[in-house]
Amino acid sequence: MAIRRAVVTGGAGFIGSNLCERLLVRGYEVLCLDSFLTGGPANVARLADIGPFHLVRRDVTEYVHVSGRVDLVLHLASPASPADYLRYPIETLKAGSLGTLRTLGLARERNARYVLASTSEVYGDPQVHPQPESYWGHVNPVGPRSVYDEAKRFAEALTFAYRDSHGMSTAVARVFNTFGPRMRPDDGRAVPTFVRRALAGAPLPVTGDGSQTRSLCYVDDTVEGIIRLAEHDAPGPVNIGGPRETSIRDLARLVIDLTGSASAIEFVPRPVDDPAVRRPDITLARTLLGWEPSVDVVQGLKWTIAWFEEAQRAADAGVTA
Ligand code: NAD
Repeated sequence: MAIRRAVVTGGAGFIGSNLCERLLVRGYEVLCLDSFLTGGPANVARLADIGPFHLVRRDVTEYVHVSGRVDLVLHLASPASPADYLRYPIETLKAGSLGTLRTLGLARERNARYVLASTSEVYGDPQVHPQPESYWGHVNPVGPRSVYDEAKRFAEALTFAYRDSHGMSTAVARVFNTFGPRMRPDDGRAVPTFVRRALAGAPLPVTGDGSQTRSLCYVDDTVEGIIRLAEHDAPGPVNIGGPRETSIRDLARLVIDLTGSASAIEFVPRPVDDPAVRRPDITLARTLLGWEPSVDVVQGLKWTIAWFEEAQRAADAGVTA
């Protein structure tokens, strides 16, 4: 069979780089388009050793041209951590709107399957728990998080409009909180913040009373779910996430335990519109894709902590991890 050629936008980011790596292992040729806004070449520095990998610096909110055939377009380009999208609000809205428009245009032109990496944030501060794909969400359209939530809601609507209007093969993956190697230590999300602080012996900042929950999924599992959806013909949306809920306070304690750190927990104010609960109903992913996470959170955290330690050692020695 001919090698399948995939375009991954945001491929130099956390999930994108892990996705590019897995696609290469599966025999794809991968073209990564990334503006390096919140990711960078270091994340993909060794991918060309695995297979045919090409990295092009490009802002996908501008004109997207790719030469050669394209079988699959995976659109992940967008700031994704709250710290990043609050720092880049307009860029985030543009990635979800113009970026989705341009990449849908590319997929249409090449008759390629298209996968949008959407997010559990489309459910906002949910009033239905756990969240099935049929839940329409509870989003504040003008709150600080709206730049991300509404951009992704628009991106989903646009993806379905292209599917219906142009008969395209498209899919929407609603990705829940994912963690693992290649997260930026300073991206502001709970896992990298806790790991970095615990390894430094500094207090772990827990927002509010820490009873708010998240459901974590190790990045290898998230990537596997996205690829299974890409290789299926279903439109989604499909929830891709860990079905086990953990309070942020328990997560901080677990990281302290696993790092053997003497750090304390420090309670800090909770951000505006921070969701109280978050847990996917993954029945659809199980039945449609035969997918569910295979890595438990403790194992995933151990690997993540080891990766952070290694990255720190490499940084200290002036080498890319
Ligand atoms: P990330 O910030 O590590 O990666 C995003 C990448 O997109 C970066 O490399 C960045 O430089 C690039 N990018 C941003 N704007 C761009 C543009 N206009 N043109 C080209 N490249 C651009 O974030 P991540 O955690 O890897 O998230 C990847 C995708 O998955 C995002 O679309 C995000 O919304 C989605 N997602 C992530 C999570 C999670 O827990 N990490 C959860 C839900 C959804």
